[in-house]
Amino acid sequence: MANIMRMGQAPGYLGSWDLEDCPNREITLTIDSIVDEEVVAAGQKEICTVCHWTDKAYKGMILNITNKKQLAKLYKTVDSEKLKGKAVTIGIEKVRAFGDVYDALRIRPKVPVQPKQGSLPKCESCGKAIPAASGMTPEQVAAYTKKKYGKCLCGECATALNNKGAQG
Ligand SMILES: [Zn+2]
Repeated sequence: MANIMRMGQAPGYLGSWDLEDCPNREITLTIDSIVDEEVVAAGQKEICTVCHWTDKAYKGMILNITNKKQLAKLYKTVDSEKLKGKAVTIGIEKVRAFGDVYDALRIRPKVPVQPKQGSLPKCESCGKAIPAASGMTPEQVAAYTKKKYGKCLCGECATALNNKGAQG
């Protein structure tokens, strides 16, 4: 069975129909690689630039010139290496072409908020990430030590500081 509305378009690649179940028909994905590859669309072979995602659940997206320009503008680079690991939000835009209107994938002109990596608080004394301690989460340990010692400390450094204080 084939959906005639989707025939003629490269089925192995991300299409507007892939976003139908997404909130606002938008999705934020992280770039894994951008490569030129041979794409078969409407029975014809063509070399297209394809953006692959770190989330392999999503098919690669063929980058047209509009989206390439948007990408370059967003991250101020045309270097595919530098674009690795960058996140983009993809949405759908009605595009008028050849006297018809169709849904086109568009990279949104906004850098998506990326989930922070290594956002765990760090000890200001030893520089290591603060582990949970004494039944407190790392955030609670950081807040507690900040209040008590004036800086975020791990349990170890806080104990060391305590001992030092006791001796002095
Ligand atoms: Zn420490």
